[in-house]
Amino acid sequence: MSKFFSVSHNSKKSKARLGKITTAHGVINTPSFVAVGTKGTVKALTPSILEDIGTQVAFVNTYHLVTHPGSDVIREAGRIHKYSRLDIPLMSDSGGFQVFSLAQNTRKARVRADEEPLVVKISEDGVKFRSTYDGRLIEFTPEKSMEYQTDIGADINMAFDECTYYPATHEYAQKAMDRTHKWLERCIKYRKDNPSAHQFLYGVIQGATFEDLRKQSAEFVVSRDTPGVAIGGVSVGETKKEMREQVKWVSDYLPKDRPVHLLGVGQLDDIVDLVKYGIDTFDCVEPTRLARMGTIYQDGSKEIDINKAIYKKDLTPVDQNCDCYTCKNFTKSYLHHLFKQREILGYTLATIHNLRTMEKLFVKIRKMIKEDAI
Ligand SMILES: [Zn+2]
Repeated sequence: MSKFFSVSHNSKKSKARLGKITTAHGVINTPSFVAVGTKGTVKALTPSILEDIGTQVAFVNTYHLVTHPGSDVIREAGRIHKYSRLDIPLMSDSGGFQVFSLAQNTRKARVRADEEPLVVKISEDGVKFRSTYDGRLIEFTPEKSMEYQTDIGADINMAFDECTYYPATHEYAQKAMDRTHKWLERCIKYRKDNPSAHQFLYGVIQGATFEDLRKQSAEFVVSRDTPGVAIGGVSVGETKKEMREQVKWVSDYLPKDRPVHLLGVGQLDDIVDLVKYGIDTFDCVEPTRLARMGTIYQDGSKEIDINKAIYKKDLTPVDQNCDCYTCKNFTKSYLHHLFKQREILGYTLATIHNLRTMEKLFVKIRKMIKEDAI
């Protein structure tokens, strides 16, 4: 098998770089956007539509898939690519983000979807909780997270980490970071004892909003022998400035020969700056979530709310400057009509356009890096 990650060009202006991640399910040209397909589906899109958009890679959430249908069901079905027919490289998270969001507040869980399972026990070892689907006791430990991710079968996996809540004290953030580091060692050991030829593990940098901890965590995680590195615990309630600072602090420590993923970040106006810090891949729910609310990207940088009455008679394309299926075929008026009538096609057409806008932004970014323009 060819090398997992290779860099073809380093920008002369910043830490931005052009790379290639090679997986058993295809190649990802980096920097790249990672479409979010939480439950094994990028909402409202078929896999073939996703291919037409040019989406290179998608992200699935272990916590959600373990809750339903269960990682055993996915394993028995031939793993996630076969089960979902998403025939592109896939990433899975560790479940840590959702599990610890639950642990912070069992009553009002900050989960990314509609489930609110009850946390039963939190310890140094992990978290146990009861699924609200069927009352089943579900356990997340470093080994369990790895086992679930192995069963699901995504190409890129994340080590089990504690996503610190915001705002956390320095004392707590340090404790959580130390735990995350110990858990990384256990995930690495699990992978060594249970090799999976097509799956690649990323260690996750934590440390909350504290410069010393972020740097300490970056140093530790990068020193470990994992095929890739991710930055976690950002964009959890802090300001945009704080979010960017957390990435900037660790940018000098990031590996030159391994890919770097930024977990849960990717608003249009953040991406170029973060690419300059050396980030290769971004997963973010925003383009797809906004699309389903009727918020449509315009000219690659602005947004409009298609629900507004001013679009009722607007017969111009959804976005004049876009080459996607939606913009080539439909008007703002028609999309407005679909949203006002809550027609399912509206969600599909809006999602196609927002994801295509993201893809075009990354094509542009890769071109700019090649020309040393950023
Ligand atoms: Zn479009």
